[in-house]
Amino acid sequence: MSVDGSGVLMEPGVAKSMPTTGGAGKPTQGQAGRRDTSVSNYVNELMQQVKAKNPAEPEFHQAVHEVAESLALVFEKHPEYRRKKVLERIIEPERVLLFRVPWMDDKGEVHVNRGFRIEMNSAIGPYKGGLRFHPTVNLGILKFLAFEQVFKNSLTTLPMGGGKGGSDFDPKGKSDNEVMRFCQAFMAELFRHIGPNTDVPAGDIGVGGREIGFLFGQYKKLRNEFTGVLTGKGLAWGGSLIRPEATGYGCTYFAANMLATRNQTLDGKTCLVSGSGNVAQYAVEKIAQLGGTIVTMSDSSGHIYDPEGIDAEKLRFVEELKNVRRGRIQEYTQKYRSATYTPVDPKLDHNPLWAHKADCAFPCATQNEINGADADHLLKNKVFVVSEGANMPSTPEAITKFVEAGILFGPGKAANAGGVAVSGLEMSQNSLRYNWTREEVDQRLLGIMKSIHDACVAASNRYGTTGNYVNGANIAGFLKVADAMLDQGIV
Ligand code: NDP
Repeated sequence: MSVDGSGVLMEPGVAKSMPTTGGAGKPTQGQAGRRDTSVSNYVNELMQQVKAKNPAEPEFHQAVHEVAESLALVFEKHPEYRRKKVLERIIEPERVLLFRVPWMDDKGEVHVNRGFRIEMNSAIGPYKGGLRFHPTVNLGILKFLAFEQVFKNSLTTLPMGGGKGGSDFDPKGKSDNEVMRFCQAFMAELFRHIGPNTDVPAGDIGVGGREIGFLFGQYKKLRNEFTGVLTGKGLAWGGSLIRPEATGYGCTYFAANMLATRNQTLDGKTCLVSGSGNVAQYAVEKIAQLGGTIVTMSDSSGHIYDPEGIDAEKLRFVEELKNVRRGRIQEYTQKYRSATYTPVDPKLDHNPLWAHKADCAFPCATQNEINGADADHLLKNKVFVVSEGANMPSTPEAITKFVEAGILFGPGKAANAGGVAVSGLEMSQNSLRYNWTREEVDQRLLGIMKSIHDACVAASNRYGTTGNYVNGANIAGFLKVADAMLDQGIV
């Protein structure tokens, strides 16, 4: 069995293979034809074991498969990683915590949610990765996110291991008091397992500044200590300037770095952005600052299309709508008549947001939001830059199409690493008990995104797949963690 583009389990031979070789402007060819058969067999066997051991976790299978395909290039040259079973060890979380989160709503009714923390890998630093509060959260989704986080954190050049956590709690429609009681109940268990030198969670979908505040308050009360145990904190209590902006800014900087390889900039480019949360808002802000015109934003109910562009004033409206009033994106069209709203139609095999004409696409909502049909629409409309703000937003089928078309495709584990990079800088500032200025943090973020970009390019060149940022990110991210694991022995 294998995983198709939508995360559905399929019989052997049915699945499309992941992108392998190829680079900017060149037609791509599959790698399997010229790959050492023992390595091909190894990847196939590994995937069979992963699926047998982790049933009903299609997103986790998808994430592991993509990485294993890229690493086949490394294993051909360096069999020692296979002999020492480094990838097998990375796939198995160091620790998985699953706990009950009981809480009471405003009417006095009791609810029970499930809390999770996946401590995936600590070879190069304390576990680090966000918390997601969303009704779709389950073990498989958090394991895929934690697995991706290991490689992403390694790419940032900072000393951070990988983790992820969250709950199937849905903050939508809950009062501030209900969200506070839930966060306190969640932390009443999690506090035993985390700490500034052990595991440092942050935000993700459904966990923003409000939730981090409630979680931090409860941790501080239970531990009686003020430490940098969470990142994404408020500025007055240990937060870093630019942390809220970092993921959206970072994925825009990554796109700018990719464009620079073709002597181009974002100036004058038409851009599609999905989502309207933290990552999307700051991607829109930075794209507009760099001269791009953003024509779409969305939420899980639908998307808006504004051919006149979402400028700074319109973005302020979206921020107030989403962060303060917690309303739906449809309201944008009541305020700005130039825009149209298209609700999600579950009967469609594609997302019409990706069918608008543009040059660049920034998926900033959620996993598997660009499928094969969406990729066809993007390519037909001459989109030639895709920079992933979200984690794994493109299905394997979509990635194959992007890589084969030779467009500039920046995978999430590289393109959206700016968020965790500035989280790492927040940890450093907490340790120093010192705050850097906005300009200092932004300069460091710019520098980190450039080194991530260049590391991807160098690794993809070194392993003969020039222009393939998927291979570049997977290989560069893996090597640092793998070498640290070899140094530290079998633990
Ligand atoms: P937010 O909760 O702030 O925003 C998420 C946005 O995506 C909302 O507009 C939400 O709409 C939409 N969305 C969520 N689920 C779905 C869905 N199933 N279908 C369609 N739309 C959906 O989260 P973030 O902006 O923080 O995160 C967005 C993505 O970026 C995630 O993949 C996350 O893992 C990734 N990421 C985030 C980082 C960060 O620093 N925050 C760091 C690196 C990656 P609605 O409000 O209707 O739910």
